[in-house]
Amino acid sequence: MTRLDSVIRRLTAQRTVIDWAAEWARSQPGLVLELGLGNGRTYDHLRDRLPGRDIYVFERQPAAHPSCMPPDSHLLVGDIFETLPAFRHRFGHGAAVLIHADIGTGDQEENRRLAARLSPLIAPLLRASGLMLADRDFALEGCRDVTAETGIDPGRYFAYRREV
Ligand code: SAM
Repeated sequence: MTRLDSVIRRLTAQRTVIDWAAEWARSQPGLVLELGLGNGRTYDHLRDRLPGRDIYVFERQPAAHPSCMPPDSHLLVGDIFETLPAFRHRFGHGAAVLIHADIGTGDQEENRRLAARLSPLIAPLLRASGLMLADRDFALEGCRDVTAETGIDPGRYFAYRREV
């Protein structure tokens, strides 16, 4: 498989999982969180699939395509390990119905550390039945891996549902 094949496969899985989750979240109350704005591709997709919803975006160095910048009121600038706890303090436990995290790099060891540190911050933010989507596997307390329900091949993207 070429690197181009690999990127296409990953982005196709990413879109499939986001579409699957948005279809469910459309009729559910709760906030939507985008962890890592990057150039704004997945933020743009989320706002298209969930029009009118409050989507809060976390990014330490906002540099997205100008057409994909969230409004200031919904852009939390800074290190996510500082902005996410402050957000939970502001909105409370269980405020989010859908969280999407795409904040990794090519460094797999660093990505594992990031996921391990982030997991305990993310799980309490999800409401019961809320979904967490990610570019890598997370260990989320009280959540079940539901990736198999999304229709993608295992290991390409990840989906978790909060049970309690
Ligand atoms: N999903 C985005 C898209 O489709 O355009 C791409 C996101 S990009 C892979 C990852 C982003 O996460 C980068 O913009 C990076 O600055 C951000 N990021 C990584 N670690 C972060 C942290 N600790 N706090 C805040 N932002 C972080």
